This record gives sequence, structure tokens and C-alpha cells, in this order.
Amino acid sequence: MKIIMLGAPGAGKGTQAKQIAGKYSIPHISTGDIFRANIKNGTELGKKAKEYMDQGLLVPDELTCDLVVDRIGQDDCKNGFVLDGFPRTIPQAEALTDALNKLGESMDFAIDVDVPDENIVKRMSGRRACLDCGATYHIVSIPPKKEGICDVCGSELVLRDDDKPETVQKRLDVYHEQTQPLIDYYKKQGILKSVDGTQAMEDVFANIVEILG
Ligand code: ADP
Ligand code: AMP
Repeated sequence: MKIIMLGAPGAGKGTQAKQIAGKYSIPHISTGDIFRANIKNGTELGKKAKEYMDQGLLVPDELTCDLVVDRIGQDDCKNGFVLDGFPRTIPQAEALTDALNKLGESMDFAIDVDVPDENIVKRMSGRRACLDCGATYHIVSIPPKKEGICDVCGSELVLRDDDKPETVQKRLDVYHEQTQPLIDYYKKQGILKSVDGTQAMEDVFANIVEILG
């Protein structure tokens, strides 16, 4: 099963993608996590990506597309994968479609997790992330068992630099301008499904499982 998660930053794509990956035994591929791991490890890609991420801008397509095309060609993606945070532009979507077409394949589902802008800023200011294992929490709705500590690996949780309110507004503007057109792109491909992302996490997941079957 090959799945794309669409939705604004903070809509809950990562939260749902991790659960989908667990239930259907497919890898969760988050370009944001890949960039953050590169930043943490001080790689050239990380240095370049950070310049854009800190400003709430998208990392250029030429640094992003090949990375994903390589990743989905790996052995563990043979039975499918769930993409979280990619594609984010029409050229990225076209690169993905082309890469799969060459293999005689195509995506199965694009799931839009729909959350209005008003809810997003609250979600992002409460998000706490583990930069070691990629787990995410929310201080009110999905708190860790021990405040400030990751349930999964015991590392310290942080407020991401790009989750500060001034950057979140920029990311929302970028989302509406560059990423929202993908909803139409996948509607035209006949694979778009929408879920109400304002529901509790378990209810959003139940809706998604109904769609995926
Ligand atoms: P995205 O991957 O789309 O940027 P996340 O999955 O990281 O979003 O979720 C953003 C924040 O909202 C996180 O703090 C997460 O714990 C919280 N969150 C996710 N889903 C829900 C939900 N259904 N209700 C309330 N909070 C949620
Ligand atoms: P995320 O973890 O998905 O919220 O992504 C965090 C940041 O990483 C984004 O605001 C972008 O700067 C960058 N990023 C992640 N995925 C992409 C992508 N597909 N294209 C461009 N930039 C991306």
C-alpha cells in the first residue's frame, strides 16, 4: 500500500503516519525527520536545509526529490510506504508520479488531514518533539508520561525552532500557496480521501483505517 499524507503543518500527518506504518507494516518516510537528522549530524544537506527550515520556507525541490525517489527504491519499500511531508509542491508530486510510472506503479491513496488554520497555531505551540527518535507529543492533548521526556527513547523533548508562532504563520502561508494545490492534483488522479483532523487522534485513525480497508 502506497500512501501520501497531505495537510497543513501540524495537522497530524506524522502522528497518523506512524500509526499507519505500524498497523500495515510499511515504512514511515518523513522528509522533515530526514532533514532534522541531517541537521543533527551536521551534514552538508542538513546545513543547506536548515537555512530554509528556520525561516519557515520549503527546502528546494532539487534537494528533496532525489532523496525521496532513492528512499522509496529501497528494499523495505517493496510492499509500500507512507509518505509524510512529501510531496509539498507540484514539481515534487510530478517527480514522484514519474519515478513510480517508470516502475509501472502508482500511489494508492492521498489522505488529506483537514484542520483549519485557527487550530494549527495552538497545536504547534504545544508540540514537543524528540529529535533522537522522531516521536511527537502535545503538552495538552497527547502528553508524554513524564514531562519533557520521550516515552520511546528517554531523550529530552524540545519545542522545534520552526514551531515558534512567528514561523508557524509563515509555514501556513507557504502551505496554502505551494502545497494545497496538491489536493486538486490527487483529486484528478482519483486517489484523494479527506478526513476531519480536528477529531481526537484515535478517531482520525479509525477514519483512515476505514478508508484503507
Ligand atoms: P504534522 O506531522 O502534520 O506536522 P503532527 O503529527 O506532528 O503534525 O501533529 C502536530 C501536533 O498536534 C503534535 O503536537 C501532535 O501531538 C498534536 N496532534 C496530532 N493529532 C492530534 C489530534 N487529533 N488532536 C489533538 N492534537 C493532535
Ligand atoms: P515537517 O517535519 O514535515 O513539518 O517539515 C519541517 C520543514 O522541513 C518544512 O517546514 C520544510 O522547511 C522542510 N521540508 C520537509 N519536507 C519538505 C518537502 N517535501 N519539501 C520541501 N521542504 C520540506
